[in-house]
Amino acid sequence: MSAATDRTTRFTPAQKQQLRRRLLAWYESHARDLPWRRSSDPYQVWISEVMLQQTQVATVRDYFERFIRKLPTVERLAAADEQDVLRLWEGLGYYRRARQLHAAARQIVSQHNGELPEDVEALKSLPGIGRYTAGAIASIAFGRRAPILEANTIRLLSRLIAYRGDVTKSEGQRLLWQVAEEILPRENVARFNQALMELGSLVCTPSEPHCDECPVRPVCAANSANLQHVIPRAKPKQTFTQLHEAAVVVRKNGSVLLRQCGPSERWAGLWDFPRFAVEGEGPLFAQQEIVAKVRDQTGVTCALGTLLKTLKHGVTRYRIILDCYRAEFVGGRVKPRSDAGICWVALPQLGDYPLNATGRRIASFTELARVQSTDY
Ligand code: SF4
Repeated sequence: MSAATDRTTRFTPAQKQQLRRRLLAWYESHARDLPWRRSSDPYQVWISEVMLQQTQVATVRDYFERFIRKLPTVERLAAADEQDVLRLWEGLGYYRRARQLHAAARQIVSQHNGELPEDVEALKSLPGIGRYTAGAIASIAFGRRAPILEANTIRLLSRLIAYRGDVTKSEGQRLLWQVAEEILPRENVARFNQALMELGSLVCTPSEPHCDECPVRPVCAANSANLQHVIPRAKPKQTFTQLHEAAVVVRKNGSVLLRQCGPSERWAGLWDFPRFAVEGEGPLFAQQEIVAKVRDQTGVTCALGTLLKTLKHGVTRYRIILDCYRAEFVGGRVKPRSDAGICWVALPQLGDYPLNATGRRIASFTELARVQSTDY
């Protein structure tokens, strides 16, 4: 460890005591009543921690309760069909999390007798469980003395030690993991780790931290140097790539054509309407291209109809303009695929299929059109 690193991590024993005492007392009166905090069932802790990765607490609440209602145990999750797991996850995004959760449940049943392991290293050997999630499960569910580091605690800890380096780089990460470990109490680790995350989420907020209300202000180096607005260092601005795509609702006798996204595609495992990039400029050229691409993708020939809607949405670093068309089946047979499904689905059955977010929006206005028009 470098001299600078050593200097920044050093809390005196008295400061550590003060930090723990103040933080735990604050949590006692400020902890939010969240559904996953009502139980220390390791399964529920695990599900909530995976859902909370990259998703806001307010969004996760309903998803969590519905998921636990439908799949209340590891065994039930392991025995579920992957499509049902994806349907429960639909709208949460980052669907790889759901597929890995399902794979991990199967591994827990086959290798750990249906019990989540308590040990961080054993937890990390499961699909989708990294150092943070393993630390959260080990500490919150089993009271193990394991550190955690996620978005809220990265911000909080980097301010507590006034770390001005890049928290996304390995040196910054190493240092913050070390701080997270150094400040852990011997007891009450579950509450302490949850309190750190809660303080980061409610008080030590990204742009306007509420230092006046902060219980750990007396030990905060960023606050005493008035650096809380510049720590952690701002990330470089993301640059976006624009894409133009088309999705086509091909209709045949009250059914529409759906295809499942293949293992190497965006939204692997989920279903969507035939969808692809559009390169042609001008309505006629684009029309021919779209009909040809539907045929290539599905084996079906269609007559392109009107533009139903244009949706704008973002996926990772892409900003996508998606033109949604209606089309009529003309001929051809659905081309079977070895790695994913493709089929005609009656409109009332669209709700049974896990669709990506734009697929669900297209389904909802397609359904609406069916109700409003005898044409469907
Ligand atoms: Fe964050 Fe301010 Fe508290 Fe420091 S004093 S931990 S910057 S809220």
